[in-house]
Amino acid sequence: MGFKVAIIGRPNVGKSTLFNRLVGKKLALVDDTPGVTRDRRVHAAKLYDLHFDVIDTAGFETAAAATLQGRMRAQTEIAIREADLIFFMVDSKSGLMPDDKAFADVVRRSGKPVVLVANKAESRGAQGGMLEAWEVGLGEPIPISAEHGLGMPDLRDAVVEALGEARALGKDDAEVEDDQLEVLVGEDIADPDAEPEYDETKPMRIAVVGRPNAGKSTLINALIDEERLLTGPEAGITRDSISVDWQWRGRHMKLFDTAGMRRKAKVQEKLEKLSVADGLRAIRFAEVVIVVFDATIPFEKQDLQIADLIIREGRALVLAFNKWDLIDNPQEVLAELREKTTRLLPQVRGLQAVPVSAETGRGLDKLMEAVVKTHRVWNGRVSTGRLNRWLETVLAQNPPPAVAGRRLKIRYITQAKTRPPGFVLSCSRPDAMPQSYVRYLVNGLRETFDMPGVPIRMMLRASD
Ligand code: GDP
Ligand code: GDP
Repeated sequence: MGFKVAIIGRPNVGKSTLFNRLVGKKLALVDDTPGVTRDRRVHAAKLYDLHFDVIDTAGFETAAAATLQGRMRAQTEIAIREADLIFFMVDSKSGLMPDDKAFADVVRRSGKPVVLVANKAESRGAQGGMLEAWEVGLGEPIPISAEHGLGMPDLRDAVVEALGEARALGKDDAEVEDDQLEVLVGEDIADPDAEPEYDETKPMRIAVVGRPNAGKSTLINALIDEERLLTGPEAGITRDSISVDWQWRGRHMKLFDTAGMRRKAKVQEKLEKLSVADGLRAIRFAEVVIVVFDATIPFEKQDLQIADLIIREGRALVLAFNKWDLIDNPQEVLAELREKTTRLLPQVRGLQAVPVSAETGRGLDKLMEAVVKTHRVWNGRVSTGRLNRWLETVLAQNPPPAVAGRRLKIRYITQAKTRPPGFVLSCSRPDAMPQSYVRYLVNGLRETFDMPGVPIRMMLRASD
């Protein structure tokens, strides 16, 4: 568990600056408390989700001989003996110096994994230095600014690449496999051409809800038509008390069977009361909920209440504008309904709204395509590296406002959960963060990582 990093490079490239950033002042102070038996030359460091130790070579530099040779020996001795990974740092502002190559030779001979870090990348003229950095022969330079904290997500990814995920994240191989799968899903979300890797063998749980008479029963019957049904006892239908199983394009679907429950309800003559409970049960059962609107009388108060409930329950949802066969001017009406959807349900921007006719069967394939797509987004995950690269750009373009004269600081973001996607934002004063700024971030996430139409949760966590 854990690994040790040594930051190596000639004087003045910015090693101490990066060291301090990785270690953080607080941790360094803790190490100074009497009674702490920790090795003083090694400090706990953190880079997003990576936890490691960084070796304080600066201390050695002063202790060693004043000559360059002496310093080099001291530094590389430590690196060879203790480090699992070396950050070899060059200064992209000044460009390469003969000393850089001398240090690089020693590092290369050590045979340890190396990340080549090109510091001061924010400064004017750093481009040239970046190109030169290739010449030390330690691979691709990672541009960073230790002073301004830029490029840290790339540094994090470079560490994972150099050490391998198991080593970098301190996981066993089984966990890594799981995680890689999830990361793949995340990567693919932003790439509409790629076929996402996610478990298609598991049945997808769907519910159909809506106001009375919107056409739910008709829609359910149209969806589970004979050809698509999985084998079962009566007329090929597999029906247990809650769900009916069927297949759509080879994919196993489980539909919450409100129709079946209603027939029972009628017998019991408690239709009204049961239908509300039904709706709730259906929503809790489902991963994706199809909300059926009667397109001839859409967006009644009850329609919006149902949608809102689904969003609050964190389910994925798709709107079906039913009875489309009764609409005379479909293009105009569709434009109007979509505009209303965006305006009235802003918390799920990009929500898919599909015109259908349960009676004629038109639009049902499109509806199911929307269901599958939304389900995929709802299950998606974005890697920490990509999230923080995005955050870096956002903070540079539009940082959070100052509150009571103090600037709010955002440290980093990570996706803590899926189904629906949930993110944790580490920031200086969560209580003071304006809701409008959080909304701005959520909208940006949605857009950048292509997550339309699903609820997105954002949790703020205090960090120093
Ligand atoms: P070390 O001798 O390698 O430990 O280098 P230091 O960390 O002491 O930094 C040397 C000088 O470079 C200091 O004046 C730092 O403020 C400056 N420096 C460090 N990082 C950066 C950076 O990212 N950009 C710029 N422009 N200057 C930096
Ligand atoms: P539920 O109460 O939501 O389950 O609604 P039903 O499925 O029982 O449908 C209510 C009424 O609307 C019935 O008379 C259906 O025939 C009718 N209906 C359902 N879907 C459509 C459709 O796509 N077009 C038309 N014209 N009528 C429909």
